[in-house]
Amino acid sequence: MGLTPMMQQYFEIKENYKDCILFFRLGDFYEMFFQDAEIASKELELVLTGRDCGLENRAPMCGIPYHASSNYIGRLITKGYKVAICEQVEDPALAKGIVKRDVIKVITPGTFNDTAFIDDSKNNYIMALYFNNNEFALSSSDISTGEFKCTKFSNNFALVQDEIAKFKPSEIIINKLFEENLRSKLTEAYQGLFTVKEEEYFSEDFTDFDNQFKNTETNELNSFIKVSANGLIKYINETQKITLSNITSIEIYEIEDYMTLDSSSRRNLELTESLREKNKRGSLLWVLDKTKTAMGSRTLRRFIEEPLINKNRIENRLQAVHELTDSISMLEELREALDSIYDIERIIGKISNRNVTPKDLISLKLSLNKVPEIKDIISNFDALLFKEYYMKIDELKDIKELLEKAILDDPSLTIKEGGIIKDGYDEEIDRLKNAKLRGKEWIASLENNEREVTGIKSLKVGYNKVFGYYIEISKANFSSIPEGRYIRKQTLSNAERFITDELKKIEDDILGAEDKLVNLEYQAFCDIRDKVDLSIERLKITARIISELDVLSTFGKISLENNYVKPSLNEKGITNIIEGRHPVVEKVIPSGEFISNDTKLNSEDNQLLIITGPNMAGKSTYMRQVALITLMAQVGCFVPAKEANIGICDKIFTRIGASDDLAGGKSTFMVEMWEVSNILKNTTSNSLVLLDEVGRGTSTYDGLSIAWAVIEHLSKGNIKPRTLFATHYHELTQLEDKISGVKNYSVAVKELQDNIIFLRKIIPGGADQSYGIEVAKLAGLPKNVIERAKEILLNLESNMKSKEEISISSNSEVTNKTANHEVKPKEKIKKTETMQLDFTAIEKDSFINEVASLDVLNMTPMDAMNRLYKLIKDAKEIL
Ligand code: ATP
Repeated sequence: MGLTPMMQQYFEIKENYKDCILFFRLGDFYEMFFQDAEIASKELELVLTGRDCGLENRAPMCGIPYHASSNYIGRLITKGYKVAICEQVEDPALAKGIVKRDVIKVITPGTFNDTAFIDDSKNNYIMALYFNNNEFALSSSDISTGEFKCTKFSNNFALVQDEIAKFKPSEIIINKLFEENLRSKLTEAYQGLFTVKEEEYFSEDFTDFDNQFKNTETNELNSFIKVSANGLIKYINETQKITLSNITSIEIYEIEDYMTLDSSSRRNLELTESLREKNKRGSLLWVLDKTKTAMGSRTLRRFIEEPLINKNRIENRLQAVHELTDSISMLEELREALDSIYDIERIIGKISNRNVTPKDLISLKLSLNKVPEIKDIISNFDALLFKEYYMKIDELKDIKELLEKAILDDPSLTIKEGGIIKDGYDEEIDRLKNAKLRGKEWIASLENNEREVTGIKSLKVGYNKVFGYYIEISKANFSSIPEGRYIRKQTLSNAERFITDELKKIEDDILGAEDKLVNLEYQAFCDIRDKVDLSIERLKITARIISELDVLSTFGKISLENNYVKPSLNEKGITNIIEGRHPVVEKVIPSGEFISNDTKLNSEDNQLLIITGPNMAGKSTYMRQVALITLMAQVGCFVPAKEANIGICDKIFTRIGASDDLAGGKSTFMVEMWEVSNILKNTTSNSLVLLDEVGRGTSTYDGLSIAWAVIEHLSKGNIKPRTLFATHYHELTQLEDKISGVKNYSVAVKELQDNIIFLRKIIPGGADQSYGIEVAKLAGLPKNVIERAKEILLNLESNMKSKEEISISSNSEVTNKTANHEVKPKEKIKKTETMQLDFTAIEKDSFINEVASLDVLNMTPMDAMNRLYKLIKDAKEIL
């Protein structure tokens, strides 16, 4: 037995789309076979059937109606599959043998642009990562908006991870070399869909690239970047099967143009989603996103993901926001105008993808109608950005007039059923519309006329698709029909249907006109779409300006509403914040309850702040607040403070909270150390570093020693980033006296009888108590456990200085069984060290170790002198 011809065709096509689920068009259905059918039936909850295929066993099969396909495709794509759409590509009536079929489009997570499915407040990026000779080139594109960005850098895989964290691509394409060398590292940072392509795919045959960017100057483009861009464009063309006209130019950026934020910092600072629920609610974006348009919402997200570091660029944004907050009425006018703007970028995307609808073009027209008003409003402002927007914004009058003249205000939803083109746009269309109308009028008058002639009042003219127009007369009135007047066509149970020659002729005219009209309207619509297509570059500029205006006016609006101030900026590494607040926490707690705090950070007397205080006091909130205020300022937004002078940061690093990577095979402590090591290696003097409870994941002594060494590294070396270091190791507060830039701060609490009250105020000086038990009490730990803990603590404290065995006696009645630990009465605890660490002793030890390890015989006299000098200096510090 051999395969049936259709199955042979299926296998020939499937051979080229092995990594896709093949939607094979059969009549009004897309059918899936074999493994594809098994996957799809499971993922889409479809019934799995079978079909004879010429082999012994039937082919597993499942199917979906073609007109309902987009929903099913959307579901498969969101689950990370690729779908290849295979259509009949010749008229079955003309086909000799089996009708020809071919794949007309491949839909993948990164090239999916069905606006019914993709979130309009987010970009959907596809990224190509090309690696060779220790260099990386990255290209990222959102085909629904036409964005295409590229960069390159050497030998720094951490930057690849940062860029992935920034773009959050839905799909990544890598070259073979990348796979061989770095795939496993990459899968740690990215769990989405990968496609591996051969070297030649990227580095040979630039036809697609040249064709795509034929109107852009690409001669100067770095050849390494070009290779990665070429791979990406090839992949996009290969899947879309057409050249997308909305990808018109390449934007080259340098990593150093933007603040560096690694993935854990983005997560910890909750920039676009909350840590726990992974929701927008509770993130910085949630507080800031009061944008009026989908384009503005995407741009705001990008601004937050890409804080600037160029002082002029930041100040330009701040200046624009300042002008808007100064003239509230114009700000409101601008926001009202923006309110009626549709998603121009994605309409452009649909135009270039040939799936734009008449309604989309009306949305485009309505949006363009608002542009003169917007231009008029910004003409009132002096800020440089507004002046630039005013100069560059294109009102696209020609396009607007074309759409106004051509397309009905309420056109049909589809393009193949007419009801699109306005009267007066095209003579032939008008003529056919008239013919259609006249015919219908004639038929209406025919009904009256025949009623009069026959005297049959119930006579009516009707229409159905099989017989066309007919005259219907009930059986009761048969006798009144004049002899030979009508031709019998159809008999019903109680009526008869007739036609006349004249009626048939008019019918031909009407139906002919209707067919022609539908065709002509479709043609006219395609011409209009192609005309708009030619102006895509102009439309993109206007769309970009509108989206940025939306973000700036949103910054203005929320600054007024939330009482933010314009920050001043400096490049001296000085950060002074007066009465700063956490933008998100102040929104989630009852209004007016947030306690503001000052921050002073610089490279001299306040370089590293050690922050102590009980759990729950507000240390993490305070640290994040400093980072968020800095970031907001560098995004160009006003900040939640009374006054703020921000030293521009090139990077913000955070090591906050436990972020287990158990799936990645690392323990909490391992992740912590990995993150700290990354920070120490990559920080610069212009960075801001937040470290929360470094060292807590291991034993007290190990943890404390690590914390101490990290503080030394950050405050004694040449690179002294502004650092906030929250800790429960009160011993570390001794470092204030030993290192000049280190300062102690603590979060104030008030003791009230047996309880504590959190004052949330950051005050100079270290905390002298942990209040752990009090906080545990607030958290609702059972009363007996609290009492017992107090008892143990008292014992421990009273024996603290002793190095002998300590005995904890229990004369309480309480049985202590918590969390599977039973503390037995009169339990002996071995205590071999004092509880308070003696720092000087540790320093002395390390000093002695250093002297002992000197290898004088292998030193030059000069080296020996230098080492001696250093040892004397260290010795003086210990004394
Ligand atoms: P831990 O050491 O246990 O991690 P913490 O000292 O870091 O605790 P945070 O998590 O920063 O404490 O704060 C705990 C809670 O206190 C916050 O969720 C918030 O509700 C409240 N809080 C923090 N800072 C302030 C403030 N300045 N004003 C008002 N409420 C605050």
